[in-house]
Order: sequence, then structure tokens, then C-alpha cells
Amino acid sequence: MLKAFGFYSLLALMLISSAVAQKPSTQKLVLPYSPSLDVKSMDKSADPCVDFYQYSCGGWKKNNPIPPDQVSWSVYGKLYQDNLNFLRGILEQASSSSTTGKAPAGAANQKIGNFYAACMDEAAVEKRGLAPLQSNLDAIARVKSAHDLAPLVAKLQMTLGGGILFNSGSRQDPDDSDQQIAALNQGGLGLPDRDYYIKDDAKSKETRERYLQHMQKIFELLGDSPEAAGKNAQTVMQIETSLARASMTRVERRDPYKQKNKIKLADLEQLTPNFDWKSYIRELKLPAFEIINVVPPAFFKEVNARLAAEPVENWKTYLRFHLANGYAPYLPSAFVQENFEFYSKYLRGAKELQPRWRRCVQFTDRDLGEALGQAYVAQVFSPELKKSTQDMVKLIEDAMEQRIQSLDWMSAETKQQALVKLHSIRNKVGYPDKWRDYSSVQITRNDFLGDVERALAFENRRDYNKIGQPVDRTEWGMTPPTVNAYYSSQMNDINFPAGVLQPPLYDAKIDDAPNYGNTGGTIGHELTHGFDDEGSKFDAKGNLKDWWTKDDRQKFDDRTRCVSDQYAQYVVVDDIHINSKLTLGEDVADLGGEILGYIAWKAATKGKDLAPVEDLTPDQRFFVGFAQWACANERPENLRVNALTDPHSPPEYRINGVVINMPEFSQAFSCKKDQPMVKAPEKVCKVW
Ligand SMILES: [Zn+2]
Repeated sequence: MLKAFGFYSLLALMLISSAVAQKPSTQKLVLPYSPSLDVKSMDKSADPCVDFYQYSCGGWKKNNPIPPDQVSWSVYGKLYQDNLNFLRGILEQASSSSTTGKAPAGAANQKIGNFYAACMDEAAVEKRGLAPLQSNLDAIARVKSAHDLAPLVAKLQMTLGGGILFNSGSRQDPDDSDQQIAALNQGGLGLPDRDYYIKDDAKSKETRERYLQHMQKIFELLGDSPEAAGKNAQTVMQIETSLARASMTRVERRDPYKQKNKIKLADLEQLTPNFDWKSYIRELKLPAFEIINVVPPAFFKEVNARLAAEPVENWKTYLRFHLANGYAPYLPSAFVQENFEFYSKYLRGAKELQPRWRRCVQFTDRDLGEALGQAYVAQVFSPELKKSTQDMVKLIEDAMEQRIQSLDWMSAETKQQALVKLHSIRNKVGYPDKWRDYSSVQITRNDFLGDVERALAFENRRDYNKIGQPVDRTEWGMTPPTVNAYYSSQMNDINFPAGVLQPPLYDAKIDDAPNYGNTGGTIGHELTHGFDDEGSKFDAKGNLKDWWTKDDRQKFDDRTRCVSDQYAQYVVVDDIHINSKLTLGEDVADLGGEILGYIAWKAATKGKDLAPVEDLTPDQRFFVGFAQWACANERPENLRVNALTDPHSPPEYRINGVVINMPEFSQAFSCKKDQPMVKAPEKVCKVW
């Protein structure tokens, strides 16, 4: 659902370590400014009607090569780096004040300062070596039978998460979005998608070969002989391949009905009798519950079959690998380096490890994000900015209302329901109204891995404790400095962190046209997610409930098929096409969002006499402003991973694929009817 390249997936990549000591930053805390429409980023030698993305972003692409430690480089990515620099300043101040006792004080500040200081103390991390893993390694060594596995899996999941066998937690009840229920989901793989284990092309085989080498290296770093390490790698591959074969594809996972399977605890025990759920639940101290959502059942059947088929020694090998692989970013540099070599360099094409400070800032944002975020919003997010964003959101919602009412293909009955849903969408701007309280998390200054474990356990505990509780609709799923936005279909809310409302994405200093093209389009994008092929299956309350007439749903499906047929033509890299069933929701949101941005902009500037600026008409500035959010350079390796895992189309198609369906665009640039950026009117895709 995220508009840009998911920040959470970025975090998974930045696993690395260099021994280069960084000097403390002496910068003043200001975010650098660049305008939200930059003519220097354009390529005016390109014809906008032939390739609008090149016309709008050609200069940017030329002037912004990918830094060696990045897997892609973009306007979003660059702003995120600026945010990280800014957060570094906050953390260095917090880190020194937590030792000197000087201002700024405060418990939250002390936690982030100590966490960052422990992360930056690379010498201490090296010196402790494997000691922080020892108690878990000992616990794995003590396992005698498959029966012993359940409590250990629970313990490791608590501080590590879904790398271990499967995912567990709470979720909103698909039938009653006000309530949280217990949930299990597939997981347990070390490669980014189940397809890597299954596809038979040369590249997939090569990737599996490299993954085996990576696993062997991790076992060797744990002290195994090369021979034993090689054998162990094969064992893990065998277990993961079985799990992958029983896992749903990403396209299947987009169907909320396939994500729903509420069963009784007794039924779960029957589905997987070889896993000791009672001791698993006891170890996690889960609140009492009767119903649990388990998806996909085939995956858990396979877990059960493997528990019987694999000797217990194989499971111990599997757990040892995932323990060391999951913690590698917080261990001595040999682990960090190996993690980088496989996940960032081989899989995604990075050339260098990110500097340690930047990794440490990201870990702090991930693990104590709402403590760090308080200091961030205090400095970059004014009440005026919040107010002007809320005003824009209101205009975009009005545009959606107008749009729904004027649809020529939808019945009055379904329109009525769509409006009820639209009016129920809650919008959240900037940062949470109430901040998460981290006072119970113990953070030291000299035990980095322990700090990470305790912070993750705090988050997991918070999540498990929601089981059986009413939903807190004020919660955020992103931290304030995140350069991204999202819609949640069960919360039925749109969320815009302060980090995405900064120049060059949102720019109070310049005219409305590029702002509506860019941020207006983003707001429209998130709003449209409530009505894309997935979001439209949820009602105004966020329940999985059909509110469409059969005939209207049929027409809607025909219209979204137009979009998916269009995007299926586009090539991501080499001979790989967009998997447009995976990207459909995002492609529909991109198109709908930009149409809403345009309508809202016209409403906001009605009656005003708009003049050309920098040789561009107001309409042209709207569209160039839109395109320039997506200016990016991508490494081919990263594009390959994204083709399998990212529900967003590559940047150029997120622009060209949209304008081709907007007659307002071809008018703005006086395109001729047989040019590439123009479709015949009867072929234009129109959903919302
Ligand atoms: Zn999206």
C-alpha cells in the first residue's frame, strides 16, 4: 500500500559494517532545500509526448548517479538521506547529553542517545564477539526432540521475528475491524520471496547457489568446519524449499479472502499436531483467546509434515542459521560484511556498505521511532504545515466525492455505499496524537545487540498484548521521519508522516501547480487505495464485506483489467515484464490519485489568473511537478528483486503509465494523436 519504495524493505537491506570511524557531525540542524519543480532536473531536448518521464527527469537522472552504498537513488531516497543526516544531529546531541547531563534532557531523549551510542561503539561490538548469541545458541544445543522446538521458536520469534519458521502476532478481525485477534502467517525463509526457491530459470538457480554459499559462510563464522558448514547450508535449503512450496504467492496474498481463515485453537492443534502450541503460547505469555486466523493452512500443514520428517538435528541447524543471519547486522564486522555481500551487493547491486552512523540512525528510527520522531517533528513540522496539508486533504476528498457522483458506469446504489466509505476515511497527518511510551524498555550504552533484542521484544509484546483488545485507531504504522505514506484497509485511514511533507515533495515556497501534481497526487493515491481492487473489498468500517452490486463489480473488474493489461506490456529489466497482477492496486491508485490531484488543483485555483512560470504553463507545471516525485536511477539487480517483490511499478511507468490515460496531459503539451504518450480515447483506462 505504500506509495514509494517501502522504507521497511529498505531497512532489511542495510546490514553491513565498515571499520571507518566517523567524526561527530557538527552540522546545524536544518534540512537542505530544493524546489518541488526543478527545471534543471528536466531534459528539454526530449519530447514530452514521446517520453514524459525522460522530459521531466532526464536532467535529474544525469546529475544524480547512484551513490556506491545505495541500491537505487531517487527524489524520495535523497530526501530520506537528508532526513537521516538531520536525525544524526539529533542523536549525536542526545548521545552526548545523556552522558554529560546537559540539555536536551528527558527520558525519551536519553533512550535514543544511549541506543545510538551503543550502536556506534563498534569496538565494543567487536570485542564481545559471539557472546551476545551464546545463551540462544546454548538453548538450541539443548533441544532433544521436536517437542522442545515450540517454546524455543517462541523465544526466538519474540526478539527476532518472522525469520523463524512462521509469523505470529495480532491483527484486526476481518469481520469486526474494531477487535484484535490472534494471527499466524507464513514465513521462515531467508530469500526475499518464495519464488526464488521454485523458479527454474538460470538466474534463480544462480541465486540459490549464492544463497547456499552465504549460508555456508554464516555457519563457518559460527565456528563450523567448511565441510560441516556446506552440509548445514544444504539442510537449511531443504527445509526452506519445503516451506516455500507451501507458501502463497504475493499475488495470492493480495486477496483479502485468502488472508482470512479464522479457526478455533483446537482446530489449529489438529492441523499441526506435531507442534506444541500449548507451550508455544505459554512461552509467549499470550492473552487468552479462542479464535486464531491461520493462513495459509497449507503452509502450516507443511510445517507439521516437516516436523515429523526432519531429524531434530536439522531443525537445530535451521535455527542456528536464522539466529545468526537475523542478528548479523548487530554482530562483529565479519557478519555484517557477509550480510552486506549477499543481501545488498549480490541481490540488489550495492557497491559499498553504508557508513555505520547511517545504519545506526536507521536502527534507532526502526526500534525507538516514536521517541526519535518527537525531536524530529518539533524541528521540521510546524502547525501551519499540518494545517495546509489538512486543507489539501479536504480538497482531494471533495474531488473524490465529485468523481464518484459523476461516474457513468456505476449504479446509484453502489455510489451511495462508496460515498459512505469515503466519508468514513480518517486522515492522519504528520505524527501521532499520542506518543508511544518506551519507559519500560531497558537500553544500555554498551550492549547493542541486547538493546535491539529488548526494543524488538517490547514491540512484539505490545503487538501480542492487543489480542482480544479493541483496536486503537490512533496508532501509526510508520515513524514521523519516514518518506512514504500509506492507506490501511482495515483502519480505513490515510497516513502521511512529516517526512513525506517536505520539499521537494511539498513546497510552501512555490506555486500550487507542482504541489498538487506531487503531494496532491500522493494524497489522492492513498485515498484511491480505499477503492482499488483490494481496498474496495472492505467496507466503511474496515470489514471484509461486499458493498457492491454484482453488475457494478463486474464493470469495475473490466476497468481494472484495462490497467493491468496496459502495465503487463512494460519491461522492468532484461526480458522481465511487470507482474501487473501484483502491481494492480498501486497502478490503479497512481492513476486515480493523479486525476484527484488535478481536480482538486482546479478547484483550489478557480477564478485565479495563473501565469506561466519558467516557460511552463500552469497545466504543464502540474504534470512536471507530478513526474518529478518519481525521478530515480535504479541498479538492474534491485529492479530484478523488485520485479518479484515490489507491488509498485518501476518509476518511469508510474509516470508514463498514468499520463497516457489523462487527456488533460495531452492537451497541456499539445500532443498529436499518434504519439506514444497519447491513447485513442476508446482505449483510455478509466476506473475512478
Ligand atoms: Zn500505494
